[in-house]
Amino acid sequence: MRIAKTPAAIQRLARIWKQDGVRIGFVPTMGYLHEGHASLIRVARRRVGTAGKVVVSIYVNPTQFAPNEDLSRYPRDLPRDLRMCRAEGVDAVFLPSDAVMYPGRDAGGYSTYVVEERLSLGMEGGSRPTHFRGVTTVVAKLFNAVLPDIAVFGAKDWQQAAVIRRMTADLNFPLRIEVAPTHREPDGLAMSSRNVYLNPEQRAQAVVLSRALRECRRRVARRRIPATELRNQVMAMVSACSAARLDYVEFFDPDTLEPVARVGKGSRMALAVFFGHTRLIDNGGL
Ligand code: AMP
Repeated sequence: MRIAKTPAAIQRLARIWKQDGVRIGFVPTMGYLHEGHASLIRVARRRVGTAGKVVVSIYVNPTQFAPNEDLSRYPRDLPRDLRMCRAEGVDAVFLPSDAVMYPGRDAGGYSTYVVEERLSLGMEGGSRPTHFRGVTTVVAKLFNAVLPDIAVFGAKDWQQAAVIRRMTADLNFPLRIEVAPTHREPDGLAMSSRNVYLNPEQRAQAVVLSRALRECRRRVARRRIPATELRNQVMAMVSACSAARLDYVEFFDPDTLEPVARVGKGSRMALAVFFGHTRLIDNGGL
């Protein structure tokens, strides 16, 4: 497994592979890898085949964190991540530093950002106004470094995948975006690097996100239901958990992300819930 630490180094590898007609599958991550990430790596491998190359990037991108967020304490375990990548048959890991991604950012030496202006406004963008600007910027930079033919994102971050898909089309990146299903713990909690922050009480109550999804799915299975009614029900479910505080719950069209007033099969739902300082998100098709 190769390790590249600069955009130039991973581009060099990618160009050599491409000269031989080899396809490149790419999985961007912030590390502290779990089974959800592994499932994305396997999707990438299936898409490019045994003759293809799979690249994983591990980079905790500072520009997608607001000053009050968890950048400095975001969990990290590089040795374990590299072991997992090796075990999954990853061909190369791109491991850039802040200094190579944003040279001189604090001293005004970096000043270019990519902004999506529609899909990124609601939900996560509403709660974290500068978040998607950081995401689209870093993903554009990663695409330019890794030169992938396909890139795999998780349905766990549905809005992010929609924003990236739009950016990829709008900016003519010559690659395909794949979205892979959400991997869950046995009790339904979506796997996330941030789950490690939860204390036992919070961890027990965190199942409320997937329970809310299941309950709404059950309710709209036979007839359409006003979004306000479902929202009230989710608010009640979350209020019943002493350690939880609802940030938002939205019902929307899965492609346009436009809110729907009457929720039915085919609509999608997303929610964000705080447990102390930890903010968990989940979403699912109804
Ligand atoms: P992160 O390292 O959390 O930024 O996530 C990197 C990629 O893995 C993103 O495309 C996420 O959507 C995806 N991902 C994170 N958690 C899961 C999960 N539980 N199941 C599937 N994909 C996930």
